[in-house]
Amino acid sequence: MDRCDSCRNIFKCPICGTSSDSFRHVGVRGTKSRFRIPVVDYNLTYDKQPSGIWHYSQPCNHRVHPATTSSIVKYNGGPLWQDGYTWQNIYWGSYYTKPSSSQWMKRLELVVAHLESDTSYSGGLSTYNVGTGKLIGPVMIPQDPPSQISNDQIAKTLIGWISSGTVADLRTAGAYNIFLPPGTTASISGDVSCNSFCDYHDTANGPNGPFYTVEPYPCAQGCNQCTQDPLDTLTQGLSEEMVEVKTDMDPGTGWVIGNEEICDYCDANFVCNRIATGEYVNSWYDKSKNACWIGRK
Ligand SMILES: [Zn+2]
Ligand SMILES: [Zn+2]
Repeated sequence: MDRCDSCRNIFKCPICGTSSDSFRHVGVRGTKSRFRIPVVDYNLTYDKQPSGIWHYSQPCNHRVHPATTSSIVKYNGGPLWQDGYTWQNIYWGSYYTKPSSSQWMKRLELVVAHLESDTSYSGGLSTYNVGTGKLIGPVMIPQDPPSQISNDQIAKTLIGWISSGTVADLRTAGAYNIFLPPGTTASISGDVSCNSFCDYHDTANGPNGPFYTVEPYPCAQGCNQCTQDPLDTLTQGLSEEMVEVKTDMDPGTGWVIGNEEICDYCDANFVCNRIATGEYVNSWYDKSKNACWIGRK
């Protein structure tokens, strides 16, 4: 998508002044900072990098911050996840070939299966005409990615894996979770994982896909508001990206609330929630209740 309601009237990059031919839209979970105010013993969270549909002006690729246009949830006509769609997890790097990593991958396979099959968390998305999919077996890529890899490189690499048959060809009927190894950071233009963002979802070619989430190895700070456990860090971000892939496969063209996707809205006032199988998740805005989804506390 070249333009959404938020960027329809921005014709010049405010950072460098060059004209904006179009905008690249990426669904991003921003990092948070947490302050402890000792006097009242109160934990306050504020958004250093608010989650939402991040806008990159083209061709200069600077990130701009469009003003919020709406607080009403709206469907923009783009592709949505349907019953029977497929997830495939991709574990990238020699780290995942080590025997000591097998437990971590096993747990993540369960996490994705649980997130997708939870009748309340995932099934509740039927209010958005979004279906429930399935998980097929994972793929391990033993070659290491570079220590810093751009979103464009990731998209290109994914297309290569599909054409070589390394990963399943899901076409537009599914999406990939790409798990990066420790020590590798992902970047979108000048934004770098764990500094500006926790994780994100995107498409390599608009409504034609392939669709994917990028999951850097859990960040030490800014991405877990509930526990100290790295798995919980990952599930809070992954749950958000999976829900937002499903409800907004080509970022900005599906269900959005102004400049936000439906989890971003609940990210702003984060509450620790768990699905029935115990994983910590980010909530999504339930339009039928005009409230964020609530699971186990
Ligand atoms: Zn836009
Ligand atoms: Zn610019």
